[in-house]
Amino acid sequence: MAEMRSEMKEERNRLLRESVKKIASTKVAKRAAEIDRAGVFPWDMAELFARQGLLSVMLPESYGGMDGDITAFCIIAEEIAYACGSSALMMLAHSVGLIPLMVGGNDEQKTRFYHRVAKDRALAAFALTEPEAGSDAASLKTTAELKGDSYLLNGRKCMVTNGGVADLYAVFVTTRPGERTKGISVFMVEKETAGLSIGKREEKMGMHGSDTTDLIFENAAVPKENLLGEEGGGWEIAMMTLNLSRPAIGAIALGIAQGALDFALDYTTKRVQFGQTLADFQGVQFMLADMAIQVEAARALVYKAATLLDQKIFERDKMAALGVDKLSATAKCFASDAAMQVTADAVQILGGYGYLKDYPVERMMRDAKVTQIFEGSNQVQRVIIARDLLRKV
Ligand SMILES: Cc1cc2nc3c(=O)[nH]c(=O)nc-3n(C[C@H](O)[C@H](O)[C@H](O)COP(=O)(O)OP(=O)(O)OC[C@H]3O[C@@H](n4cnc5c(N)ncnc54)[C@H](O)[C@@H]3O)c2cc1C
Repeated sequence: MAEMRSEMKEERNRLLRESVKKIASTKVAKRAAEIDRAGVFPWDMAELFARQGLLSVMLPESYGGMDGDITAFCIIAEEIAYACGSSALMMLAHSVGLIPLMVGGNDEQKTRFYHRVAKDRALAAFALTEPEAGSDAASLKTTAELKGDSYLLNGRKCMVTNGGVADLYAVFVTTRPGERTKGISVFMVEKETAGLSIGKREEKMGMHGSDTTDLIFENAAVPKENLLGEEGGGWEIAMMTLNLSRPAIGAIALGIAQGALDFALDYTTKRVQFGQTLADFQGVQFMLADMAIQVEAARALVYKAATLLDQKIFERDKMAALGVDKLSATAKCFASDAAMQVTADAVQILGGYGYLKDYPVERMMRDAKVTQIFEGSNQVQRVIIARDLLRKV
């Protein structure tokens, strides 16, 4: 029975990959250069993904979702990123904004907010980082104080992907200032909340179509029914969310890397120098082989981590015992480092043309860079991996 279920899941994910690949090649790819050039949030892509159900992949079927797993999430991230990093990031940040609800929300909250996503096509975002709290997220300063039936939120979040376009935000705050992880709580905050405003929109090196903004809270009154889990339970939810989403960051990196490799490979068969194609030079062949090794190894790690996460164990100590923290961090770290290397090599293989905006590989290189930085920088991933290794000696 279990074997049959797993075969059905595999078949479902195979069909999902086929259909997302088709959407990416026929609809997303042709928009990618323009999205990058214009630097404007691609609402047409958001509408397309919503129509195709790609923004409700992990929602239960009963709420109009796909009832998909982390593997399905990674497949979508990879196939869209192959065509356009910014569009993939919009989809990813939306799904990450919903994971705290998935792991920490009660039935009433899930009904209320899932409904907004599935029926009203609401977009979500995940707001943890603050100007003074990046890698050290536990030092966040945004406060929430219970006054009557609402919590009053005060503070500033920064670099929030989908910040200016989302309808729902998972916002991490402290309800017991000074207590670091023990004081952190998480709320679902609706865009219409009085006292919430959108701050400056960042100009970035890459991912130009992705909307990255500050969120400012000034006595923003959030109903106490929007607290996910218990007061002080937010840190656990944040860590589980990051564990669940890091392989999908790896999948974005993987998609970008595969896109760069395929473009460079094709180019080498057409560009002629010294009377032969670039593909005839062994020096270039070895570069292509090294790129392919990186891409395949990244793919293996991303889907190994996703498969482990698909056991849907949402308890921190069980996750740690299974090695989820380490594998999830490893997949994100390796795939993003690989993407940086592979995209830089793709630029190199195209020579001067690789540096020009006429070709997509320079965009891929710029888009790849941030995968080494967000959802915990790759140094932080190494801290997590080393901590897990050392815990066992
Ligand atoms: C385009 C973009 C989108 C983003 N989207 C979101 C989002 O949607 N939601 C959200 O909450 N955040 C988001 N972020 C924020 C992102 O997660 C942070 O930038 C990241 O966690 C790093 O924090 P920081 O920028 O403050 O760097 P810092 O923490 O100041 O780190 C600076 C450098 O020091 C290194 N460093 C820090 N601590 C250690 C350590 N212990 N050991 C070794 N090295 C260390 C870091 O690796 C880094 O190289 C986004 C960022 C960007 C650029």
